Amino acid sequence: MRASKMLIATAKEAPQEAKIQSHILLLRGGFIKNLVAGVYNYLPFGLRVLNKIETIIREELDKSGCQEILSSAIQPKELWEESGRWSKYGSELFRFQDRHNREFCLGPTHEEIFTSLARDLIKSPKQLPMNLYQIQTKYRDEARPRFGLMRGREFKMKDAYSFDRDEAGLEASYQEMYDAYSRIFKRLGLECKPVLADTGAIGGNGSHQFMALSKAGESDIVYCDCGYAADVEKAEAISTENSNEELLPIQEVETPNKRTIEEVTNFLGVDTKKLIKSIVYKDTETNELVIACVRGDREVNEIKLVNAMNTAEAFLSFATEEDIKSLGSIHGFVGPQNTKCKVYVDNEVAQMHNAVCGANKLNYHLVNVNYGRDFTGIVLDLRKAVDGDLCPCCGQPMKLTRGIEVGQIFKLGTKYSEPMGLTYQNQEGKNVPMVMGCYGIGVTRTMAAIVEQYNDEFGIKWPLNVAPYHVAVCPVSLKDENQVNLAEKIYQTLKKNGIEVIIDDRDSSLGFKMKDWELVGLPYVIVCGKKANEGIIEFKDRMTNSKTEINYDDAINKIICAVEDIR
Ligand code: ATP
Ligand code: MG
Repeated sequence: MRASKMLIATAKEAPQEAKIQSHILLLRGGFIKNLVAGVYNYLPFGLRVLNKIETIIREELDKSGCQEILSSAIQPKELWEESGRWSKYGSELFRFQDRHNREFCLGPTHEEIFTSLARDLIKSPKQLPMNLYQIQTKYRDEARPRFGLMRGREFKMKDAYSFDRDEAGLEASYQEMYDAYSRIFKRLGLECKPVLADTGAIGGNGSHQFMALSKAGESDIVYCDCGYAADVEKAEAISTENSNEELLPIQEVETPNKRTIEEVTNFLGVDTKKLIKSIVYKDTETNELVIACVRGDREVNEIKLVNAMNTAEAFLSFATEEDIKSLGSIHGFVGPQNTKCKVYVDNEVAQMHNAVCGANKLNYHLVNVNYGRDFTGIVLDLRKAVDGDLCPCCGQPMKLTRGIEVGQIFKLGTKYSEPMGLTYQNQEGKNVPMVMGCYGIGVTRTMAAIVEQYNDEFGIKWPLNVAPYHVAVCPVSLKDENQVNLAEKIYQTLKKNGIEVIIDDRDSSLGFKMKDWELVGLPYVIVCGKKANEGIIEFKDRMTNSKTEINYDDAINKIICAVEDIR
């Protein structure tokens, strides 16, 4: 391609709202252009990268025996009612009506569609196991679309669904996908950790997230050298509270206007570890109020709470001051004792001796509060795991790191096949539900994750197999015939050999061109300069930022070999 004819949309600056490297560099490099919050246009470089990521995904899934289809983004309400999700999905679902007032949504995911396809089209159990996938645009009206391609309202996902006769079949299908995902992320050059993930309402222990390690990630992961790794939402938090303090008599103390943890601990001169944090939550579906108790220096893991309450994340919210009053308590002075609602107590809190908590009375707290004697509740693991927590597998301290969730795989079991009547006839002639798995990769988010792992102060450093082009050839001066002729010769030879090459025939300075290609992140640049008449060029490798003067033939061979290696 000739640069002079290309839509190159590089920019010196990114808009203020771009905070993380992938957002900044994908905008500045002219890969994407924002339309409205969380919605992007993909420009030529961006689309080329996206297509390459998709090709790698397709190749690996096809190797695993998956079959590709393409379904619509438009999904009828009726299917979502069959699964029971129409009322549960909440405001992330883009809903709309057609001219006949029939209701639809734009698919945020496709379990209902694939289950109904399988119900209509899989005729015999002999066709099982089957795994169908697509690479398709998804829509989620995210509360906070941000970070560019990381969290969009429109994004591309690869979603796959497996259909098996039984649990053992699902195990095998799941493992097959786990392995395919590991190969995909490896080929994409991503440093990725598979971690145990929460299955939410689905239940069971059957989900992994694939986390690309990065400070820019929105997920916290704990991991241990023994191999255990889990999302903090899922990670079991082990209690090491082991007090042998003698139990003291409970006392009410005045704490005028002291509501926050900091205010109360400062006022009473106690450590935050001595406090019981009591948070009132509301299930907005049933209007049930509950109190969740964790130690003052801990955080409630809302996923664990949602699972214990048997509700959905979308329904969980903080109680209002009015709600708290209805429990006979008051905001800032809530405690778990003598209350009308269910109390969920973290393991650690149940072990605390002589703790401090709100007295359910304006301007008062209680001291020397003890579980069992002064209050009770449902004791469970309710807090978020933190750095240094002990590993539930081997007991060693775990480390905390951040990751970008680029994929997630789930053992669904019969969650969709049962309500939606996706069955097959078993050997006894009985209709039994198929056992399903589902498997997602955020394709556009993966593109951002690669940029997060491959960049420097000059721009992006694409791994060769996802780079928009492999190489740019730049004559230093368009007026120098030797340089232009050599550049043209190199360009034609590379093109003939199937290399994706740009000849930079723009009438601008070499410095300007080099800045562009560094920002765009092409793996190689060939500069035809002063020594063009001797056949010597400057060869730049973006990954190492090294420059060498070599014969043009050697440069061509180097590139052809490198590209052959990744094909
Ligand atoms: P998250 O927790 O980040 O909101 P999720 O768990 O809701 O994601 P899944 O339903 O598991 O997402 O979707 C499969 C994959 O799609 C995710 O692993 C992620 O890579 C990608 N994805 C999900 N939401 C978005 C989004 N808003 N923008 C871009 N990619 C997304
Ligand atoms: Mg997920």
